[in-house]
Amino acid sequence: MLDVIVFILLFLIIVNWFQLMSFSNLVVGKKIKTSSIKDEWIHNKVKKKTGLTLIDITLFHDKKMYGMMAGLPFWPKMILSTGLYESFNKDELEWVVLHEAFHCVLWHNLQSFIIEMVILFLGIYFVKTEHIGLLSIIFLAIILGVICIQIIRWTTEYIADKYAIEKMTNPKGVITAQDKFRINYKDNFLNSEKSIFRMLFHWNITFSQRIQIANKRINSK
Ligand SMILES: [Zn+2]
Repeated sequence: MLDVIVFILLFLIIVNWFQLMSFSNLVVGKKIKTSSIKDEWIHNKVKKKTGLTLIDITLFHDKKMYGMMAGLPFWPKMILSTGLYESFNKDELEWVVLHEAFHCVLWHNLQSFIIEMVILFLGIYFVKTEHIGLLSIIFLAIILGVICIQIIRWTTEYIADKYAIEKMTNPKGVITAQDKFRINYKDNFLNSEKSIFRMLFHWNITFSQRIQIANKRINSK
């Protein structure tokens, strides 16, 4: 039983470390403050380009730059960090809010959850039937965690970027947004594009990959 619990915890932490870190910052340590904002521009933009009516936009008072979507299409709440909201211009912000909105209309939260559960239960089944040792359990959790992240990256994060960039008024916003990310994350080894950790454990596609998609759209006109 203990081996199954170790596997479950390790797998879930590996796959969801970013979300766990963001949400744990709300309750422990130097707590992130939150506030709800009324931004008609975001509401209108999202409604017009994705059909989604946002219930709420919540700001996380955090100098790091990120956006997230909580809830499913019938309860859509967008989360933006102040670091992102205050430094992005309208063109850059359009990419972020469309990216997040597409996660919602395409049911990506549910999709990622199902992908995680399928792989998690495959792992549990393996741990239970093969009676492998602790080291092998750790190894299995890492391998399956990485596989899970890669599937989520290419079936949700890449798709959200692709749809958002197709719908943007000015796709150049994606390119300047990536430059701002690069500066903001320059001391974070996890976000360097050459980092093996980033490649293995980060949900998002790289800054260069996003710029490539944007350039493709710009040049196709
Ligand atoms: Zn995303």
